[in-house]
Amino acid sequence: MENKEERVHCLIIGSGPAGYTAAIYAARANMKPVLYQGIQPGGQLTITTEVENYPGYPDGIQGPDMMIHFEKQAARMGADIRYGLATKVDFMEAPYKVWIDEEKLIIADTVIISTGASAKWLGLESESRLNGYGVSACAVCDGFFFKGKEVAIVGAGDTAAEEALYLSKMCSRVHMLVRRGEMRASKIMQERVKQAGNITIYWNTAPVEVLGDKKVEGMRVHNNVTNETSDIPLSAFFVAIGHQPNSDIFKGWLEMDEAGYILTQPGTSRTNIEGVFAAGDVQDKIYRQAVTAAGSGCMAALDAERYLAMKGM
Ligand code: NDP
Repeated sequence: MENKEERVHCLIIGSGPAGYTAAIYAARANMKPVLYQGIQPGGQLTITTEVENYPGYPDGIQGPDMMIHFEKQAARMGADIRYGLATKVDFMEAPYKVWIDEEKLIIADTVIISTGASAKWLGLESESRLNGYGVSACAVCDGFFFKGKEVAIVGAGDTAAEEALYLSKMCSRVHMLVRRGEMRASKIMQERVKQAGNITIYWNTAPVEVLGDKKVEGMRVHNNVTNETSDIPLSAFFVAIGHQPNSDIFKGWLEMDEAGYILTQPGTSRTNIEGVFAAGDVQDKIYRQAVTAAGSGCMAALDAERYLAMKGM
């Protein structure tokens, strides 16, 4: 029978670039890390196509292949990588308790949280059908593939504004859909968007459907003031309506901002509970890149190593 309770030195929750990098460093520091992969082994990169901005891959690499490399490297260093989802925690006192799949209990001296974030989607059937075929939630990842083409972006926050500007530098035109008569983005970002020569803002407008059979060919939009519906030809449809950090099970234990991002002490991966660290997108709503997540995973392993040394463990 499987052992229902297990004591570990270093538990890593999540398997994106942050989790695997933490595992590589923790394993090399002889912390015998155990990593649970979560619901989407490999994280958000497993749903992207080509990654061209991760240093070390001069010819680019497919996101899923890159995450297999991360996993193999962590396993080669000795990390114990397992399927399983953390479903509940008790951080009342060290060592900390984490339940996996609602049954197995891990008792850990240190916990590294790298559960990531998930992009929010509109929920249109055509949006999910064409995901990866011109529909994307990451302009920085996929914009390059639409150089010189017309593209759309949905959203009106700082992310949408930043991504619209990014796209405007390489695409011939960016059609930006704003569902209200004003933008949520900071004033300076709004000004920049308005001043870019090739961003057309559609106020009070929402997408009704992404058009195209095998790839994005356009979008149907509805203006909720004039009540008009129209079609716009396009090559890509970017969604930037926010992200949701995967931090629900830590609510009530860890300090978070109002959106649920775990707060870490500046310049470190330390949370408000000593011995519990956070890395990657679950604590980063600004950069959200594979390389920054990997860097913060490294920081978490080093912080955990120092904590264990300080405690004489
Ligand atoms: P936000 O939650 O700030 O904005 C989401 C945007 O998407 C809003 O404009 C919202 O519209 C719109 N939206 C939501 N749902 C829909 C929908 N179903 N259809 C159409 N539009 C929709 O998310 P962001 O990712 O932009 O930003 C998150 C946080 O990160 C913010 O605090 C932001 O300031 C910060 N940030 C900072 C950056 C920087 O400082 N450089 C860069 C990026 C982000 P509505 O306004 O109508 O609700």
